[in-house]
Amino acid sequence: MPLTPDQQAEIETARSEERTTRRATVPGMEAHLYNAHEVLDHGFVRVIDYMGDDNAIVQAARVSYGRGTKAVQNDAGLIRYLMRHWHSTPFEMCEIKLHVKLPVFVARQWIRHRTANVNEYSARYSILDREFYIPAPENLAAQSKINNQGRGGVLEGEEAARVLDILRADSNRAYDHYQQMLEQDGQDGLARELARMNLPANIYTQWYWKVDLHNLFHFLRLRADAHAQYEIRVYADAICKIVADWVPHAYAAFEDYRLGGVQFSGKGVDCIRRMIAGEQVDQASSGMSAGEWREFQAVLKG
Ligand SMILES: Cc1cc2nc3c(=O)[nH]c(=O)nc-3n(C[C@H](O)[C@H](O)[C@H](O)COP(=O)(O)OP(=O)(O)OC[C@H]3O[C@@H](n4cnc5c(N)ncnc54)[C@H](O)[C@@H]3O)c2cc1C
Repeated sequence: MPLTPDQQAEIETARSEERTTRRATVPGMEAHLYNAHEVLDHGFVRVIDYMGDDNAIVQAARVSYGRGTKAVQNDAGLIRYLMRHWHSTPFEMCEIKLHVKLPVFVARQWIRHRTANVNEYSARYSILDREFYIPAPENLAAQSKINNQGRGGVLEGEEAARVLDILRADSNRAYDHYQQMLEQDGQDGLARELARMNLPANIYTQWYWKVDLHNLFHFLRLRADAHAQYEIRVYADAICKIVADWVPHAYAAFEDYRLGGVQFSGKGVDCIRRMIAGEQVDQASSGMSAGEWREFQAVLKG
């Protein structure tokens, strides 16, 4: 359960307050506002604020005075055109602010996306909670034998139990020591900013993360992808669902051109043309390396 009853009550209070505005609002996002979408065992994503909608993208593209265009069909078509041709600045007119609770090792991957504004929970100022990410049994994967940066089959039986025991014991022991260093029977206690240094990377942190839609799509393209680590991918998947409710036309275009689309190299395009012309093309005649050819074949076969 990622939220305490007090935190849940705060969210409900925030959701009960209504304000009037002339700004564009999106019913799907109003439904998401402040609510926590649970991710992993203690994490969440919640929308704190947002600016703009599909129409804001269209308005910016046309630099218009009012509504972007007359027909919804035209808006969707224009948004698809912008996405197709990498005309990205109109997407930057939409912004979203999220509150995310995530394990530190996931945060380390996430923070590599530099085109966002971040404010993280201060473990210099506050004491971290005893909350650690312990993978669900089905996500307790072995090291992949073919991909150094990937996972193989799921650990089972005794081996799974042994690994889970180690994870739980190490997490709890480190946290016990953290608490003991902070304060012990009237002693001064180590400063919070120092005591935290023995905590493991599966402890949870939190931040506010604000980003525009163009850079969010870039993040989602990389992190909702099958090559991304499962633990960050589940956050990206949760955000994808939110974005689909926020800017449905832009998300549909993103899903089609970026998540569902592929990019071919010049050699790849040449091979496809030769194949369509009836030529038997193999790796040797493709000009591609074995790895490239494997990936190319995987795309063609689906
Ligand atoms: C599957 C996967 C595996 C990865 N493995 C590793 C790894 O092993 N080691 C590792 O260190 N990282 C790794 N990364 C992180 C990766 O290299 C990027 O740092 C991360 O994905 C952020 O991408 P970005 O820089 O495009 O995003 P952002 O920082 O959001 O930037 C968005 C875009 O803005 C532009 N930009 C932003 N800042 C600058 C700048 N200072 N100079 C020039 N252009 C800029 C670039 O065009 C960039 O693409 C991995 C990422 C993925 C998805």
